[in-house]
Amino acid sequence: MSLIHDFIDLFFPRVCEGCGNLLFRNEETICTRCLVALPKTNFHKYPDNPVMETFWGRIKLESASSFLYYSKAGKVQRMIHNFKYHKKTDVGRVLGKMFASDLITSPYFQNIPLLVPVPLHWTKLKTRGFNQSEVIAKAMSEIMHGKVETEVLIRKFATDTQTKKSRMKRLENVSGKFDMQFPERIAGKHILLVDDVITTGSTIEECASLLLSVDGVKISLASIGFAGK
Ligand SMILES: [Zn+2]
Repeated sequence: MSLIHDFIDLFFPRVCEGCGNLLFRNEETICTRCLVALPKTNFHKYPDNPVMETFWGRIKLESASSFLYYSKAGKVQRMIHNFKYHKKTDVGRVLGKMFASDLITSPYFQNIPLLVPVPLHWTKLKTRGFNQSEVIAKAMSEIMHGKVETEVLIRKFATDTQTKKSRMKRLENVSGKFDMQFPERIAGKHILLVDDVITTGSTIEECASLLLSVDGVKISLASIGFAGK
């Protein structure tokens, strides 16, 4: 019994990325218990919601939603940590598809032709091997049928993690961190800007401001986690 388990686990270590328990044969990536207990925000049902409020007076958004409440030491934090730092890209794919399946039922997220993931700096992309926001955006596009555009936004500098800095410090730190190219690809289009977790929103604010400088661009926003107020 344990030999067989050891053998299987050696080649297919199938544990839930939320709770760490072994997965049943019919489960993938996240166990049924964790899936049922996902702390969904359901913000997509409401035109004014805490994500929209985060950006009031900062940038003009058509609509905005996060899939899950993100709290430190919670299961969502664990899933996203495993996704980003342990290369469990299936987590991003599963959550991205579930999120998109909710969004397409909302009148506020219809017919968005372009999905733009928040970019990583190329050095970080090289060490991590993937951009988590791009993984999410690609999974979402399978359900929402928009095109994923990864070349328009560029991250100019690799900065250290900012989790312990104050909001003012972060704003200073983040200003001028992104650049844009090929504006003709987005002119006149409605864009869904995609990020993994929204905290203060300063990264999103800068990305959206750049995109909004192109004629006729409209921005909506989607993230898997919401760590705001
Ligand atoms: Zn679980």
